[in-house]
Amino acid sequence: MTRRIETAEILAVGSEMLTPFRVDTNSLFLTARLNELGVIVRRKSVVGDRRDDLAACVREALARVDLVITTGGLGPTDDDLTREVVADVLGRALTIDETILAAIQARFARRGVPMPSINQRQACVPSGATVLPNSEGTAPGLLLEHHERLIALLPGPPREMQPMFVRAIAPLVEARSPGRRLQRRVVKVTGRSESQVEEIANPIYTALSHGGIVVDATILATPGQIEVHLESAGDDHDAIRAVLDDGVARLAAALGPAVFSTDGRTLEEVVGDALRARGWRIAVAESCTGGLLGGRLTDVPGSSAYVVGGVIAYDNAVKVHELDVPATMIDEQGAVSEPVAAAMAAGARRRFQAEIGVAITGIAGPGGGTPAKPVGTVCVAVSTPDTASIRTLSFPGDRDAIRRHSTAAALDMVRRALSD
Ligand code: ATP
Repeated sequence: MTRRIETAEILAVGSEMLTPFRVDTNSLFLTARLNELGVIVRRKSVVGDRRDDLAACVREALARVDLVITTGGLGPTDDDLTREVVADVLGRALTIDETILAAIQARFARRGVPMPSINQRQACVPSGATVLPNSEGTAPGLLLEHHERLIALLPGPPREMQPMFVRAIAPLVEARSPGRRLQRRVVKVTGRSESQVEEIANPIYTALSHGGIVVDATILATPGQIEVHLESAGDDHDAIRAVLDDGVARLAAALGPAVFSTDGRTLEEVVGDALRARGWRIAVAESCTGGLLGGRLTDVPGSSAYVVGGVIAYDNAVKVHELDVPATMIDEQGAVSEPVAAAMAAGARRRFQAEIGVAITGIAGPGGGTPAKPVGTVCVAVSTPDTASIRTLSFPGDRDAIRRHSTAAALDMVRRALSD
């Protein structure tokens, strides 16, 4: 029986990706496609154009996983070593394949130029390899089997690599591991730190794997949002679905109202759906976020149904003239204060004739902090016809992080106001 393909390793070959100027994006595409096929990527590496380094990576990868995919280093120049190194590691002789050579020559002939002799190299094939035609370029890909493990050598340029993977590698993976799929659920949380979420979530997700189903969990943190990812691969789709659903339900119960989404929706989509459900419209007043909150709300297609508009009230005069914040209040309390935030939210709601107004005023830094109100101090307020909620929050990080935390906190307060 041929070995199933359940694990993979990706080697991005090319010294340019070890500089600050180029980044390996091929492995992102490959990881996404492999995951869809239920293949877990165990390691991704970037390796420069050095024989020994590449040979060591290939040897290690072949010892560890069912499928190794290299991208890059199949070109005609001296630093394109992948073909030679892999042939060497596997102990295969390289010979020129006349059919490939003719195809490369024809490609050059179509452009009206003779084939440079260095391109011969691209027609070299290790013995036993399957040649993968390249519809978009000169370098064909190669597929080899070694002690039941597969190694695929794909070209570096994404526009050549991607169709080759889809046409040649994906069907092979599917044929070797029929029906295998990876299922993933994402629980999204706001208003909690990564460590708080981890403390609650860890005992839950570590207990999920049982009866042959392995659940991997990852926690992803961005300013204002923590995501718990649960994933499991296999061919018993119903059993995996049931285990993941159970995990999501347990996490949602334990993390409580801090969970805003278990179905993939973003915070702004959840808020938008809640506004639609109530038939309410929203107006925003933003100081330190300068329009980011309005941007997030209007990122959602169809948001014109519930977003009226907003004011970027950066200058205090705008807070006074456009949002009716009393000038004396700003003088006495400071622009970053709960009364000013509340007045901004109420002013936006009234001025725009919306049912809900939301305001942010804070110190995003790096300057402007005081001992009483250090950088990261942000007041957020929500105003409805019947309620007002105000919070003073203290966010970590740089200006960008503080501003992103602020918009998440504001959206979350709107979400909570709408769920009352
Ligand atoms: P070719 O013969 O077409 O040059 P190749 O297999 O030799 O193919 P490389 O020379 O290694 O490919 O890379 C060619 C280009 O492809 C790089 O300059 C880069 O723009 C892109 N590329 C290579 N590897 C990657 C990667 N891992 N992620 C994204 N782009 C890549």
